[in-house]
Amino acid sequence: MIRTLKGKITLVYLVLVLLIAVVGITASFNLYQLSKAIDGLMIENYKSISAANSMIDAIERQDSAVLMYISVDSSRGKELFADRNEEFLKWYNVTANNITEKGEKELILAIKASYNDYVKLFFDLQEIRSREGVSKAVDFYNNKMMLDFINTKNVLKQLCTLNEKSMFNSKYTATKNSSSSMYIVLGLSIFAVFSGFAISRFFTNKFLMPVTILTKTMRLIRAGDLNQQADIISKDEIGELAEEFNNMTKRLQQYEKNTLGNILAEENKSNIIVKNISDPIVVVDMNYRIVMLNHAFEKVFRVEEKHVFNKNLIGAVRNKEIFDFISSAVDSYADTKQKIFALNSNKEEYFYNVVVATAKDSNDSISRIIIVFQNVTQLKELEKIRTDFIATISHEFKTPLTSIIMGADMLKDESIGILNEEQQQFVNAITEDSDRLANLVNDLLELTRIESGKAVYKFQKYSINSIIECAIQPFYNLAVQNNVQLYYEPDNSLPMVYVDFEKITWVLNNLISNAIKYTGSGDEIYVSVAFRSNKVYVTVKDTGAGIPEDYLEKIFEKYVQVKDIDFEVRGTGLGLAVVKEIITAHNGVIWCESRLGMGSAFIFTLEVDSFDNGRKD
Ligand code: ADP
Repeated sequence: MIRTLKGKITLVYLVLVLLIAVVGITASFNLYQLSKAIDGLMIENYKSISAANSMIDAIERQDSAVLMYISVDSSRGKELFADRNEEFLKWYNVTANNITEKGEKELILAIKASYNDYVKLFFDLQEIRSREGVSKAVDFYNNKMMLDFINTKNVLKQLCTLNEKSMFNSKYTATKNSSSSMYIVLGLSIFAVFSGFAISRFFTNKFLMPVTILTKTMRLIRAGDLNQQADIISKDEIGELAEEFNNMTKRLQQYEKNTLGNILAEENKSNIIVKNISDPIVVVDMNYRIVMLNHAFEKVFRVEEKHVFNKNLIGAVRNKEIFDFISSAVDSYADTKQKIFALNSNKEEYFYNVVVATAKDSNDSISRIIIVFQNVTQLKELEKIRTDFIATISHEFKTPLTSIIMGADMLKDESIGILNEEQQQFVNAITEDSDRLANLVNDLLELTRIESGKAVYKFQKYSINSIIECAIQPFYNLAVQNNVQLYYEPDNSLPMVYVDFEKITWVLNNLISNAIKYTGSGDEIYVSVAFRSNKVYVTVKDTGAGIPEDYLEKIFEKYVQVKDIDFEVRGTGLGLAVVKEIITAHNGVIWCESRLGMGSAFIFTLEVDSFDNGRKD
């Protein structure tokens, strides 16, 4: 029993080689037989025919010799007769030793008998001629010898015919044999081709069967079914491979069991942790079906896990605003997004910072959405207390500040008395600091108003030129004092903007005053407007100090001021924070482009009036 695949393949090849050898040997043998048969038969027959013809020739000459003997020259006739007799007998012996055909032997015996008679009669003729004369000899020849002569010739012709026939038969047999050989060889070849094909196909399938089974099993395992085992149907190399493969999957199964156990244990732990986190947490799939939630979520949203599990999130949250925010956060493809929402529970208002995070699978597509509701009610309350406090303080500061400024102004005017130089310096310092304080109070009041939602916006349509002109006007003198060029070229072709006039004027005031503050003598400030993509872009650009790159975003936060700037810090760090709040409330965006030492540009966008989105002439 052959066990190795190599041995089996070799055996199949051997069978095929054997088949080819059988066909080759049979063909060669048939051809050899054929040629031998043709050769043998043809040569033997040809020898007999040729000998018979020679005998006919010899006996005809003998007959002429007899006639010469009778009537022309008896001694020459006898001599010639004897010569031809020798010749005849020589050829006779050839035929007598070359009997190949059926009936040939009888014919040869007949030739022998007839010829012997003929020769004997010649001796009788010689006696008759010498005893009874020529005419009696002629009669004897005509009546007796000629009969034997004709008879012998006839028998010889029969011999020729017999051999000729045999030659024809040989040719016929050869043709027949060759065609039957041809059919045999052809048949064998066809048989060899078909059986070779069938054998190789059968064995190829047989040998490949274990490979096919192994491949199928591998596919199932790749799809995740580690319980699959390949059938071992052969003991050859592929059988060994299948066995090793099965061992490997068993090990994998074992490993998976261990790992799965660990994972489940870990998952259990994390589940317990998540379940007991004090902030509400809910996890949903891509169809917003709840796949996990914790106790806090159940409590805050007053739901039970068994009722909402695998159901749509909207049913549990029951707040369209929150649900819309979650779905927009998922659609934005940002990793996390958060927004504060107010929720009413037991007639109390709570604030939750809703944080939406997405978990991606190995294909980088979102598989789970995790939503955490951070309770920020306390923070909100603290913020409110702070804002209220700042608002009250600022408000309380305003009245005394106004009297301080007024008093300082009166002192400065010297309307109530002349001041000496030292007194003037003090009064100037008081004016400067109280102005700063007044600005700070104003900014703080504005900011607290905006942050607490108390700021009231009066949106109307305005020409952006009119707002800019109103905002820029008070700064021309200041710019001249500081030796700074302030440029603005109005563009009357712009559409109307839909804004709060005072707030946008406040924004521009802030940006222009910053530009003047952070530029030096000889610098330039450009205010410009443009209309693109249905939005108005306002730019305040200066050639002043510039802002370091890592401050470009931070400067819009409260109390942030660039420290490493050459200028003496003269502001409150609140202006840009208020500016950003106002622009955001206008659905616009603001950003800063700057290079240190080269100047800065503050750009913000405004929405155009929806009934006036065509450009004006
Ligand atoms: P401040 O009252 O300090 O000016 P802002 O909020 O208006 O407060 O500005 C914050 C900080 O941004 C400033 O302190 C300053 O460092 C920087 N800044 C604002 N505008 C400019 C400008 N045009 N050029 C250079 N730096 C600027």
